[in-house]
Amino acid sequence: MNPIGELNLTQRILMGPGPSDVHPRVLRAMSSPCIGHLDPEFIGIMNDVQQLLRYVFQTTNRLTFPISATGSAGMEACMVNVLEPGDHVVIGVNGVFGMRMSDIAERIGCEVTKIEVEWGRVIEPEQVQKAVNAKATKLVAVVHAETSTGAHQPLEDISKIARDAGALFMVDMVTSLCGTEVRLDDWHIDLAYSGTQKCMSCPPGLSPISFSERAMETLRNRKTKVQSWYLDVTMVEKYWTDGDRAYHHTAPINMNYAIREALRIVQEEGLEARWARHQRNHQALAAGLSAIGVELSAQEGHRLPMLNAVKIPEGVNDARVRSALLKEFSIEIGGGLGAGKGKVWRIGLMGESSCRHHVLYLLTALEILLTAEGVSLTKGAGVSAASEVYGVA
Ligand SMILES: *Cc1c(COP(=O)(O)O)cnc(C)c1O
Repeated sequence: MNPIGELNLTQRILMGPGPSDVHPRVLRAMSSPCIGHLDPEFIGIMNDVQQLLRYVFQTTNRLTFPISATGSAGMEACMVNVLEPGDHVVIGVNGVFGMRMSDIAERIGCEVTKIEVEWGRVIEPEQVQKAVNAKATKLVAVVHAETSTGAHQPLEDISKIARDAGALFMVDMVTSLCGTEVRLDDWHIDLAYSGTQKCMSCPPGLSPISFSERAMETLRNRKTKVQSWYLDVTMVEKYWTDGDRAYHHTAPINMNYAIREALRIVQEEGLEARWARHQRNHQALAAGLSAIGVELSAQEGHRLPMLNAVKIPEGVNDARVRSALLKEFSIEIGGGLGAGKGKVWRIGLMGESSCRHHVLYLLTALEILLTAEGVSLTKGAGVSAASEVYGVA
């Protein structure tokens, strides 16, 4: 066998649905020495991570920590801990991740009412009201930032409906956390989960979760054991929050260095400033795209700042353009998922990737490639429209 060569990767500009660009400080933190998972220095790091997570989630929930796996494991952790076979759950399905939540609920043996709306649109409160009126409901769940479609789901009205119906309210915050306003306590969200590789700009590998006191009470009153050993938070909690720090599983040590540093960067910038930065870059990109004839596809008034789903212009070859972006410009954008396959592109402006030079560079690259595809557009129109939003025209 020939010796395998040393890793020598191309630097990419990550403008897809995640992962996003990682700050060099985070990569440096990851290369710190690996220490033991019960080392007092590591316990200090765990405490820092929890404190920073409570800040970004805007919560005082004691049970707030990262699950040792990606965002989907956070989704599964929230659901398996509070749901039991036979429970009725109401799930908003307007994209891939609502479907994933429904699949998990069905595997638990729940009775699932899916509120299905066209992809790209948001779930309306009246639809949730109707579903919870029809039958006693244990949990209502929606996706705050549908990464598959670019829809930005309003939460407060649905939260109130769930609470009034005596149901827990669960929200997928994988893509929204650290990129747009999130307020767990003010919005009475009982279960939330996120991921590291979207607007936190950390490599993938951890899934922050947070449980309210109501969610903890539901967990304590279970009739059956949590079906997943690994994700049973009553056990993981003892490692993350108890004085004894009992061994449960070996925490991914260096990933915790990474999330700590990524969250320190968020704290330095300040949440409000970070949300505003994401919004401004989104507005500039939207203006630039519109000037070169590329339209956003999500419901007007409910568009995400960090994930811009756009309709692929008529006659343009999806795969050819995305592969040229990667090969010639080193830019990654996302293709469509599920119902959007071949019809939309998903342009991410997440965390470190949400910046002016990425917006302007992508618009330049798209202008070149779309012209080659035969789209007729005014030279420089995209960059010029975006620059106007930035106030540097
Ligand atoms: C990315 C994503 C997930 C899944 O996260 P993984 O890290 O890929 O497991 C879940 N929900 C939403 C909204 C996402 O964008």
